[in-house]
Amino acid sequence: MPAPHSRIPVERIIKPQSLAIIGASEDIGKFGGRFMHNVVRHGYAGRLLPINPGRETILGRPCFPNIGAAPGPIDVALVAVPAAQLRQTIEECGAAGVGACVVITAQLGEFSEAGAALQDEIVQVAAKYGMRLVGPNCLGMITPTHALGLTSSPTLQYAETLPRGSVGFVSQSGALMGTLFVLGYDHGIGFTSIVTVGNQADLELCDFFEVLIEDDETEVICLYVEALKTPMRFVELAQRARARGKRVLAVKAGRTEAGSAAARSHTASLAGSYAAFETVCEETGVLLMDEPEAMILAAGVLARAPRMGPGGIGMVVSSGGGGAVTADRFTVAGLPLAQWTEATRTRLDTHFPRTHQNNPVDLGAHFGALGPHIFKHAMDAVADDANTAAFIYTMTPQPLMPQTVDFVIDVWTRHTKPTIFVLDTSRFGEDVRQKLLQSGMPYLTRIDDAMRVLELLVRERDHGALAERAAPLRPQGAGPLSKTLPSGFLTEPEAKALFRSYGIATTQDRTVSTAQDAVKAAEAIGYPVVAKGVSRTVVHKSDVGLVRLGLSDADAVTQAFDEISRALAAAGDAGNPTVVIQEMVRGEAELIVGARHDEGFGPQVMVGFGGVMVEVLRDVRLASAPLDHDRARALLRKLKLWPILDGVRGRPKLDVDAVADTLVRLSWLAHDLGPRLQDLEINPLIVRVAGKGAVAVDGRGTLTEQA
Ligand code: ADP
Ligand code: MG
Repeated sequence: MPAPHSRIPVERIIKPQSLAIIGASEDIGKFGGRFMHNVVRHGYAGRLLPINPGRETILGRPCFPNIGAAPGPIDVALVAVPAAQLRQTIEECGAAGVGACVVITAQLGEFSEAGAALQDEIVQVAAKYGMRLVGPNCLGMITPTHALGLTSSPTLQYAETLPRGSVGFVSQSGALMGTLFVLGYDHGIGFTSIVTVGNQADLELCDFFEVLIEDDETEVICLYVEALKTPMRFVELAQRARARGKRVLAVKAGRTEAGSAAARSHTASLAGSYAAFETVCEETGVLLMDEPEAMILAAGVLARAPRMGPGGIGMVVSSGGGGAVTADRFTVAGLPLAQWTEATRTRLDTHFPRTHQNNPVDLGAHFGALGPHIFKHAMDAVADDANTAAFIYTMTPQPLMPQTVDFVIDVWTRHTKPTIFVLDTSRFGEDVRQKLLQSGMPYLTRIDDAMRVLELLVRERDHGALAERAAPLRPQGAGPLSKTLPSGFLTEPEAKALFRSYGIATTQDRTVSTAQDAVKAAEAIGYPVVAKGVSRTVVHKSDVGLVRLGLSDADAVTQAFDEISRALAAAGDAGNPTVVIQEMVRGEAELIVGARHDEGFGPQVMVGFGGVMVEVLRDVRLASAPLDHDRARALLRKLKLWPILDGVRGRPKLDVDAVADTLVRLSWLAHDLGPRLQDLEINPLIVRVAGKGAVAVDGRGTLTEQA
């Protein structure tokens, strides 16, 4: 519940003019002591008000017995009291006119029902006063641009200063703050602000995300997400960040949750909530990563790197072996390596034989004696090459390290291309590292991190026009939705009727309940036919013998009918058997096309290679619904097995337009169903050669009751 009237804007919370520390102490072994020491050590310039009934002064500052006795106005109060005193403390802060409380106290909503109840209570108390809450269960914040180190993390005693830079970070995990702050510190990465939001009882991740977007000094925003409180606001903010030219990096926990959930359809198991988040990140240009430390290191490089233009990666290495492995890894990872222009080759001729003018250029493979000039020559030639869109230099232990580091710093300063420096020397390279820290040039120590940054740069470049698309148009004949929709688990005929009402091509099913009618239906359709048992309880029909393919005469149909009837009875379907007879569709590929309604991000569609192998292949792509034809085609092109659709090795091109059209129509159906949709699935959509269409031969779905 948001505060009805806020006493303080959110940006002021990370840059308070006055700060009270409740439970302040001089003892650095205590929680309240560490907060005091950290705030004082890093030179907070606002009014600092220690609160402790037992002390006159703390670290030379006058101390107040309670918050009510401290002179106002008080922007922020740090609250780290035991849970038993929490309600009372929040009440006192509210009464004293405090703008916001940063609540460190844990074992609340994240811990127990009683804790959750107390958490709700403090939110209500705060709201009564228009006081905002950060946390509970957070670890405070660090705002280098305001000289504020409001956290108990001992890393702030290790750090001599709070490094100021252009990276902002909002974290749902408190402990990550210390880890990543000190990692950044050692790498010379400067921050505008790092905020931990804990349980997000009042203020949440998006509130601070927004503050960082609006903050002029923040260029790169990192987010560590566990669960978003307001997913659609996240999407909106991600778009705004993009419009402002700010890079957003994110790591989200819970990637494997979808895999473990017992799923009622392929769509549910392949397109869970992590996949939904991944999809909106892709669509809004948020660079989703898999690891928080890698995110901060990447942010440090990106904060000082331009965007990547057309071309590939140009690389110089001081270890031939390491370079060869790296080149292999880049190729496997799909990172494009630059081809040297003729001008670059001619330039390299001075020191490198043509046979060794590879990418990467190996500094060891030169004519004559090795000297610093060779390093400079190779780096400049590679970085200046017109095909080099991003430059990378890996320094391994060698005698000329301190003499040659200036050359790479020069490339980084001079060029409008991303320049990545990997200092692969362990602590042997400490003097080089010091030089880098002084120059402000970012560095990495592992090629893995460099690959991640390059991959992000490529992703950012490819993202291109995606975000600026116009709203998609509804194709002719897609809807409207019937007024009387079935609900619960839909059988194949029910699902297909829904698909047909949106203009999706399906087989025409004839439903029968006697063998005689089955034969009549088969004759009307024309042999060969397919017979399937219809059941509301069976998810995968072929698993229990309910699908009979390629029936070519009346005897085969009669026999199939009998067998399916028995299989239906065995599967628990009492009463008359329901069997559908349909045409046997021939085609070149089987795709899965699905849709689901994500609780947070709304309707999304999925397309991939299907049939019974879908979970094994895991070759699917997702998009927010509705989408247009171009976007649908773009998704198809991203499938690993796209060459099969595009015609490979003499195979014909398949009807990609028909697949895209099916996806677009299903996306409108998903859009129109709204939250009633749980999931819908065509599996398979049989795709014929170009111009011959695609047909949904199987369908299923689950709709909830009309609200
Ligand atoms: P389920 O997925 O419930 O097991 P399907 O209806 O998808 O049942 O049938 C299983 C497989 O049989 C499909 O993946 C497809 O390969 C094939 N099949 C089903 N119906 C047809 C049809 N009408 N024409 C051609 N092949 C079909
Ligand atoms: Mg199927």
